[in-house]
Amino acid sequence: PDTRRWLFADQLGPHFLDTPRQPVLLVESQDVFRRGRYHRRKAHLLLSALRHRAAELGERAVFVQAGTYREALAECGGPVSVCDPTSYRARRFVRSLPDVEVLASRGFVVSEEQFAGWADRRGDKRLLMEDFYRDVRRHHGLLMDGEAPLGGSWNYDQDNRSGPPRQESLDVAEPWWPTEDDIDAGVREDLDRWARDDGVEFTGSDGPRRFAATRREALRALRHFLSDRLEQFGTYEDAMLAGDEWMAHSLLSAPLNLGLLDPVEVARRAEEHGREHRVRLASVEGFVRQVVGWRSYTWHLYWHLGEDYKQRNALGAHQELPRWFADLDADAVEANCLKHVLAGVRDEGWVHHIPRLMVLGNWGLQRGYRPADLADWFWRNFVDGYDWVMTTNVVGMSQHADHGVLATKPYASGGAYIDRMSDFCGGCRYDPRVRVGEDACPFTAGYWNFLAGHREELSGNRRMAQALKGLDRLRDLDGVLHQESERGSGPP
Ligand code: SF4
Repeated sequence: PDTRRWLFADQLGPHFLDTPRQPVLLVESQDVFRRGRYHRRKAHLLLSALRHRAAELGERAVFVQAGTYREALAECGGPVSVCDPTSYRARRFVRSLPDVEVLASRGFVVSEEQFAGWADRRGDKRLLMEDFYRDVRRHHGLLMDGEAPLGGSWNYDQDNRSGPPRQESLDVAEPWWPTEDDIDAGVREDLDRWARDDGVEFTGSDGPRRFAATRREALRALRHFLSDRLEQFGTYEDAMLAGDEWMAHSLLSAPLNLGLLDPVEVARRAEEHGREHRVRLASVEGFVRQVVGWRSYTWHLYWHLGEDYKQRNALGAHQELPRWFADLDADAVEANCLKHVLAGVRDEGWVHHIPRLMVLGNWGLQRGYRPADLADWFWRNFVDGYDWVMTTNVVGMSQHADHGVLATKPYASGGAYIDRMSDFCGGCRYDPRVRVGEDACPFTAGYWNFLAGHREELSGNRRMAQALKGLDRLRDLDGVLHQESERGSGPP
């Protein structure tokens, strides 16, 4: 008979089992939520998904609710096997246990072994996402026309960078929303009780569950996205509207990262749907790029770069996250962009990739927040966040703390970028064009302050030459620097 398979809460899809009848162990541990403050919505989603899976499996699953994993394993007894889990900490833990067989990880477009081979063959060349993505497309035959990319181009990014339309929200069908059931009600009661009686602390506010928690829900969400929203996805994927935080995004990162959907399956369905219904190719490609490109690239680099990578801090950023930021206190913030984005995180545990990178990440970079702390803040506060997702994305991409291993230049920008890509600035008490004085945009002033403070580290970077020249031409730089040194760490 099959060995019992221990499934973590991010390994819930059928592809984590060897056979459909394999016996399963599921563990719910309250201790996990004591290791740091999680967003209430994230805790809800994880527990809901786990309990729904247990209910679905019925007698085939032993479902243990315990303080710790160790207690749960002792209660279940007998040998179990587990697919390699998704963090360094969890990997160390499963290897320290008797009677646990650890198998290769699953749920990504190529295995860790295949990626290691790919990285080896690159030799001294940079491990570029674009090269990885093209090889994945060739390997799986995704969006291919024989040997060539479908439509003649591998990359349609240039067609997917429009600023927002002049309207409050996008003309697109609402996302698919799940209907909560008794399991969700039970989760909500338990989380209320943990917070009230057991001293477990959460961030953010509670509200109706927005993300798929079962395989069936995830497939429904996928179908709805493909038929009603994919066409619009690409054009505005980088744009932000104050009145429309979902835009045409798929909201599938959460069920994908719970392991409910397999990324290749998702990409294939997008391709099939796109071909059959003649969906705008740039939208289909942009979506496939996120699902089998960025997502898997991030995952593999997390392992490839090693556990120490998270502590890298090439720009010497040592500022602790201020309380208002850590607590998602959007009401304390006046800067309209940051206020809206922080409120989105507080209320939903989710904002799309551009507010993450160009508002929250940009802010942290300018203010010198400690990269590892910021990465932890991101994964605990986002419904789709995990250590593997946020370490490379935050430490490398957004904070440039790896000195350019992942991104060739820091994603620092002033208010002009935010103004171009959003409608936030119109309703803001600051002016994105102003650097000094009452109306000075904190992102614009912060951008010049950041460049001035890191002039030396950035001077060898050809992609920063233009920006540094701009810095040299600034007549009021002293005023900007003085103003920024006075600002302190309070909310802008
Ligand atoms: Fe944000 Fe500056 Fe625009 Fe205000 S003016 S919304 S602070 S970028």
